[in-house]
Amino acid sequence: MTNVTEKRFPNVKDAVAFEVAFAPFVYSYGNVGWDEYERYACTRCNYMEQFADFLAPKSECRKKDGAILQSYEYGVSIEIHDLLIENFDITEEDFRPIRNKAGDIVFFQITPQHIMLPLSDVNRVRKLKPCKKCGSVEYRIKDNKTKEDWEYYYISRETLDDLHDINRTYEEFEMHRPMYLVSRRVYDFLTERYPRMAFAPFFLKEKE
Ligand SMILES: [Zn+2]
Repeated sequence: MTNVTEKRFPNVKDAVAFEVAFAPFVYSYGNVGWDEYERYACTRCNYMEQFADFLAPKSECRKKDGAILQSYEYGVSIEIHDLLIENFDITEEDFRPIRNKAGDIVFFQITPQHIMLPLSDVNRVRKLKPCKKCGSVEYRIKDNKTKEDWEYYYISRETLDDLHDINRTYEEFEMHRPMYLVSRRVYDFLTERYPRMAFAPFFLKEKE
């Protein structure tokens, strides 16, 4: 099976880090509202915080390797969670369980603990005005796009040297959500086994 990221980016062999960009969607139960796992931390800027595990039926997660959750966070299968912890510098802290209503773990949300250095050194990143109530800041990043409209980004040597196997960006973007990045070796490991898992590449760029 073709690696979907390779198909989108013929030069992917030159990429040095990868943003998680899984496409399948995992919905919660029809009668579970977002307020059962998220609440407003600030009512002025709508900053949301997650206070409980995301809930999803087992049938929603079946046959999915990686997925975007209805909460716009990302998740991986139990099998992938186990493989990542076994083979990489990744720990239980980098995940949060996703449960069904019976309380069984059915999938894992990724919650990377390592915060990267800012991406603004080699990308066009704009900082919005801080929230007047809570002081939180959102950023916008100018995507670079292939002819077919697939997004990719840049990373500096300094930021790459500081990269862990799984990471969150320093910047929070739309809806106060960071990007999640994995190292080259995690990408290679996953896409060899699960070629349908999609990522957006980061290419090395020297600071000017
Ligand atoms: Zn706020």
